[in-house]
Amino acid sequence: MELSAPQPTMSRESHLMEITAAYLSGANQPFEVTMLHLDPPKASEVLVRIAATGICASDAHTRSGRIPSPLPCVLGHEGAGVVEAVGENVTHVAVGDHVALSWMPNCGQCRHCVSGRPVLCTAAAPYLLAGTLLDGTTRLHHDSEDVFHYSFLSTFANYTVVPGASAIKIDPGVSLSVAALVGCAIMTGYGAAVNRAQVRPGSSVLVYGAGGVGLSAVMGARLSGAGKIIVIDPVESKRIEALDFGATHIFAPGDDIVDRVKELTDGFGVDYAIDAVGVPAVVGQAFDATVAGGTLVCVGVPAPEARPSFPGPNLVRDEKIVTGSLYGSSRPSTDIPKILDLYRAGLLPLDKMISATYPLNDINKAFDDMAAGRLTRGVLVLDEALAS
Ligand SMILES: [Zn+2]
Ligand SMILES: [Zn+2]
Repeated sequence: MELSAPQPTMSRESHLMEITAAYLSGANQPFEVTMLHLDPPKASEVLVRIAATGICASDAHTRSGRIPSPLPCVLGHEGAGVVEAVGENVTHVAVGDHVALSWMPNCGQCRHCVSGRPVLCTAAAPYLLAGTLLDGTTRLHHDSEDVFHYSFLSTFANYTVVPGASAIKIDPGVSLSVAALVGCAIMTGYGAAVNRAQVRPGSSVLVYGAGGVGLSAVMGARLSGAGKIIVIDPVESKRIEALDFGATHIFAPGDDIVDRVKELTDGFGVDYAIDAVGVPAVVGQAFDATVAGGTLVCVGVPAPEARPSFPGPNLVRDEKIVTGSLYGSSRPSTDIPKILDLYRAGLLPLDKMISATYPLNDINKAFDDMAAGRLTRGVLVLDEALAS
């Protein structure tokens, strides 16, 4: 497999491009790194040469079936690369531009887009887990069989075709490995703290989960001036790592967390709790650990049958705010470049999140390492020079 010279090859019989991709044939199957065919971009679409892509728990949950998305497919939804070709009507990026990829290609015209909440876009959301692009069809093929996309992006490949609105132009001086991570984990966690919770200087913040999303919430809380940042995670090495990102206190999960949090906050509870786990018992505990009038932001996506619960009287009498946050409640086209500017200014240590890099051929090992809790973020590198 020649990944170091990723020149597109046009097959003789059509305009299909031969690409190298991690093909997932069915639930719980290993990834097979193989040649697939990719159609050229249609109108309002962009062909991107992927330089680097993060691996995310959502990819693993889709592979296992917890997140339903059609198979066979090419997973990967946290990538960055270089524009190779653009379809008709694409004017916001050009060939050669460096781009980070957003998995919410909002339309800019629906009710939610015009009211400033593009992650709720009604044009894109129905297709997010449909396995297609925005016209309901796929550009990926394995022999004569259609292969589904994943979250519009399918970044576990050296080339991909994405909706134009997913391609966010970024400064070419920034590492495409870091830019890749901003496309999912960082945007999600940072945005939960900065956009949704709107953490205030001197406030207290409780974060459940010290993976990529949780640590990004910690970075966002720290940049916002939080005075206390308490992080809960079962893995000791992850708790210790959280201190590097701005955590002031770390605890293993347990029944005593609410008491410990209250001890640290003059008996009141935290101003903001951010749950990056998505388990009902954790959501309930986070609610109890939040001060009256405080805000609980739920980021981790629970299983479909999950029903988090709260003591009803406290919800009313304590005036607590419980809110979800999708994709950092962001405006991806402006927030992604803004976060990268903060990184380049030395205000967000985003590169510290990358704990290991792998060639695409080692994708199965990368997923094993993620499952074993060995990674803050693992990154698959498709193009060494561009990714650094
Ligand atoms: Zn993700
Ligand atoms: Zn929209």
